[in-house]
Amino acid sequence: MISFTDTHCHIHDLEFFPGGGDEPYEQGCAAGVRRQFLVGTDSRSSEEAVRFCADKDGGAYAVIGIHPHEAEKELPGSAEFLRWCRAQTGKKLVGIGEIGLDYHYDHSPREQQIALLEKQIELALELQLPVSFHVRAAFDDFWPLFDNFHGIRGVLHSFTDTVETMEKGLERGLFIGVNGIATFARDRDETTKNIPLDRILLETDAPFLTPAPIRGKINVPGNIPLIASYVAELRGITVEELSQGTERNVDRLFF
Ligand SMILES: [Zn+2]
Repeated sequence: MISFTDTHCHIHDLEFFPGGGDEPYEQGCAAGVRRQFLVGTDSRSSEEAVRFCADKDGGAYAVIGIHPHEAEKELPGSAEFLRWCRAQTGKKLVGIGEIGLDYHYDHSPREQQIALLEKQIELALELQLPVSFHVRAAFDDFWPLFDNFHGIRGVLHSFTDTVETMEKGLERGLFIGVNGIATFARDRDETTKNIPLDRILLETDAPFLTPAPIRGKINVPGNIPLIASYVAELRGITVEELSQGTERNVDRLFF
């Protein structure tokens, strides 16, 4: 079977999957999504991600961090959160995320988003872990902040910006995360086509961003093959070639 990794999903998050993520996890494994990265968005869901992975044999990996939306709520307790993160290092923790800046929604004041992002980048560098970045309508502030640090490795998760912005990410060694948006936002085709094969990562961002042709349902990791076939066809390569390329990228960045 062709194998994939879902590098960004939230099926462990009880807010989104009140019945627990075990069923979508198993279903994803059966669909060839042999590795699934459970990504935190605040301190609660980061703890849930670690707990979810602990009792899975293999295949479930945790990415922990605080989303920019939560900066206002979580910044006061961030020292304690960072201490907790340091205690989670081990074979199931593969990254810090999702962290970044979101000026599209501005759910938290920008200076608090920036302060929290800097603390979490420092943590990633200290723990030598890659980062899953969420950056929306904020690249003008993001690049100078990024360039103040040295040695950051990571992915621009759910990338929907221009080819020009993508090139700025590639210059800095970043990977580009592609999800269901590629299947229904056709104005992104140019970007999706131009990502070098050695820099693409596949993700679902489940429960969000369900790919075509099953829009309207709750998204799950088992939908990675739908995204992969769309992307492969768009790029004129086989699904096998895309799988080989993206799996190699996962190994290079996270393992
Ligand atoms: Zn996400």
